[in-house]
This record gives sequence, structure tokens and C-alpha cells, in this order.
Amino acid sequence: MAIIFDENGLPTGRKVEGGHVRVLIVDDSQFVIKHLTQIFMSRDFEIAGTAENGKAGLELFKSMKGQIDLVTLDITMPEMDGIETLKAIKALDPNVTVVMITALGTVESVKEAIKLGAKGYIVKPIDREKVIERIGQILK
Ligand SMILES: [Mg+2]
Repeated sequence: MAIIFDENGLPTGRKVEGGHVRVLIVDDSQFVIKHLTQIFMSRDFEIAGTAENGKAGLELFKSMKGQIDLVTLDITMPEMDGIETLKAIKALDPNVTVVMITALGTVESVKEAIKLGAKGYIVKPIDREKVIERIGQILK
């Protein structure tokens, strides 16, 4: 998926082929969901859905199969953690871009996630500029 970058080299949620990048946000923190939603929407991404645990996120992903371009996955979540969710999502759609959202101290999990096909990670606390910059690097 190729996206359009603005004149400052920052990513927008608009695809070169037309339409918006559709994002699924999975995190057990409502605060993080809200914050990521605001950041993505401010850059013209489309929020396709949000879920508070991996199980619910996977169900949403299945129900919108082929329509999700980007998934942000928290690593530590109840029901089903980010690593298990990543495996299931990648099995359903190997091409979807997944970005892990991690707290400090989950280095091993991040390494495993990258091996399993995650494209990158963002360390909490969520910072607007850091998220935009990192998403730009990942979608370049
Ligand atoms: Mg969490």
C-alpha cells in the first residue's frame, strides 16, 4: 500500500491509488484508543473499528476481512494478548500492516512480534509526533 506524504514529508491517511487508509485499533486502554483515533483522524486516516481486547479485535478483523489496511495492536491485553492476535490476523491476511503498541519492558515480546510479521512498534506513552513519524517510516 502506497500512501501520500505531505509537503513536510509526514504521512497522510490517503492512498496513492485513492481512498483512505483504514485502521483497526486494538487496545485495552480506552485512553490509548481515544488518543490514537484522534491522531489518525487528524491525518486523514479512516478508523474502521476499535476493540478493547485481542479476541474482540480478531472478530472485527474477520468481519471486515480485506478492508483493513493497518492494525495497531497493544501487546498486553486481557482475553487474547497482542502476540496471539498478531498470529491470528497474519494467518487470515499476510499482507495487512500491523504495528505493535508496547509499554517499556516488553522488548522480548516486540522481537517476537517482528519475527511474526509486525512491521514496527510504538512505545507508550502515546505521543502525537512520535506516532506520526513512526507510521510514516512504516508505510514508506
Ligand atoms: Mg494493554
